[in-house]
Amino acid sequence: MGIIYLLYNKEGFGYVGKTNKLRDRIRQHRFSNQNTKSKLLGEFEYMVIEDFENEDDLDSAERFYYDLYKSLYGDKLVNKKKPIQTKEDKKAYATQYNQQHRGERNQQRIKKYECECGSIICYGEKTPHFKSQKHLNYIQNTSV
Ligand SMILES: [Zn+2]
Repeated sequence: MGIIYLLYNKEGFGYVGKTNKLRDRIRQHRFSNQNTKSKLLGEFEYMVIEDFENEDDLDSAERFYYDLYKSLYGDKLVNKKKPIQTKEDKKAYATQYNQQHRGERNQQRIKKYECECGSIICYGEKTPHFKSQKHLNYIQNTSV
């Protein structure tokens, strides 16, 4: 279980992050005294961009969404640096991930969609989600 999230504020600044404990992480962003980049946002709202059952997908997804939001926010994305990938297989996944998303409209991708199986996903993730184990299990359990 892991989550990619976006923090954003009224002035149009944003921050992309990943976590497996969203509530704790948001609290850290809001109240910790650490001098992190997200402090530049001041008061912020947040939203879940995508959630994963498989944490292995997180790094690739974080990188993907970093690139996406960098293209939308430009210098107003306050992340310090690009998320780094270390393993070759993660790179391969990222390439695949990018190909799946190519040609889809950014706005469409950011919108959330609540699936009948209880997952909250992005519109752009519908097709791969419908093939996911969680969704298939749900279909299987309800159709019998
Ligand atoms: Zn589903």
